Amino acid sequence: ADLNFPSNGAPTRGRSAISTYVVTGVAGFIGSHLAEMLLARGDAVIGIDAFTSYYPRKLKRANLEYLTDSSRFSFLEADLNDAPLESLFAGVDGVFHLAAQPGVRGSWGQGFEHYVRDNVQATSRVFDVAAAAGVRVVYASSSSIYGDAEGYPTTEATTPQPRSPYGVTKLTCEHLHRAFSLNKGLDAVGLRYFTVYGPRQRPDMATQRIAEALCGGGSFEVFGTGEQSRDVTYVEDAARATLTVMEVAPTDRVYNVGGGSETTLREIIATCEQITGETLEVTYTTVADGDVKRTAADTSLILEETGWSPQVSLEDGLTSQLARTMSHQAWEGTPAVA
Ligand code: NAD
Repeated sequence: ADLNFPSNGAPTRGRSAISTYVVTGVAGFIGSHLAEMLLARGDAVIGIDAFTSYYPRKLKRANLEYLTDSSRFSFLEADLNDAPLESLFAGVDGVFHLAAQPGVRGSWGQGFEHYVRDNVQATSRVFDVAAAAGVRVVYASSSSIYGDAEGYPTTEATTPQPRSPYGVTKLTCEHLHRAFSLNKGLDAVGLRYFTVYGPRQRPDMATQRIAEALCGGGSFEVFGTGEQSRDVTYVEDAARATLTVMEVAPTDRVYNVGGGSETTLREIIATCEQITGETLEVTYTTVADGDVKRTAADTSLILEETGWSPQVSLEDGLTSQLARTMSHQAWEGTPAVA
């Protein structure tokens, strides 16, 4: 494929016509970065988001501000379970399906109904309509499908054994992918993202909670000892992987997308302290149900088949996230998350 990657990370192609892509979950963390990258390289984006109440609408509105200046961006506030997907998907070049109910901890008990609706039912509908329209879908799966994996770094061939109901719903999306591809001719590629971080990260995620506490005061609560480790992935690397597979991956693949630097929570805290010159007040509580001890991605398959590899170092990525948190708080006049 005719791809090259300039220094800002956005793939560009030698072509004349504008491509049009649907991005679901466009007001969210990863979706908004992906849409920004598509617009920056000259594509048109039809964004869909329901503004679910998992975290404040004003943060999602702020994410959209990076997109709304472009005349090639259009936005529909709608729920995928009843949005007019047939007309939205007709004639587009691809669908990036990022919308979901994320988060491991909220997926137990009564919360599970949101996960079934926004992950399983909504994804089934996206696959159904995309298959009928003959449009490729690149969708978000998760490292959480592995649970406490059988081996590290974990390859895609490892048996999935999710530890949380959230992980079960993401694995269900992969099984739906297979069912729709076998029976309905769906062309889809799944991405198992490993802990994505960077500017505009969701406020429930550890790195953003650390950034908020360091920039705005307050303490950070660690679930467990802080020795749990994650393969963390910078959001622009994740978005670039997502664009790349849309264009060059063979159909029906599922790939790991990991940043390549397995890091403990304590190391993330230490690096953030070093960058800001501040000391974080830390409290400890019990390990949250469904949290795994360790994640580490083997990304040789996506490298081999698409050429993608992560580019941004942990220190550079954290510096960008801390800078954005600081400026956003200054702009708001109060901490971004009350
Ligand atoms: P996010 O919550 O910031 O974004 C998801 C967006 O989807 C939200 O804006 C929400 O309003 C929207 N949405 C949810 N249900 C919807 C529905 N039924 N109809 C329309 N819109 C709906 O989450 P994120 O961190 O950007 O995650 C994006 C995707 O990546 C999700 O599928 C998530 O499961 C997956 N993922 C994320 C990470 C990570 O580290 N952030 C890791 C693995 C997988």
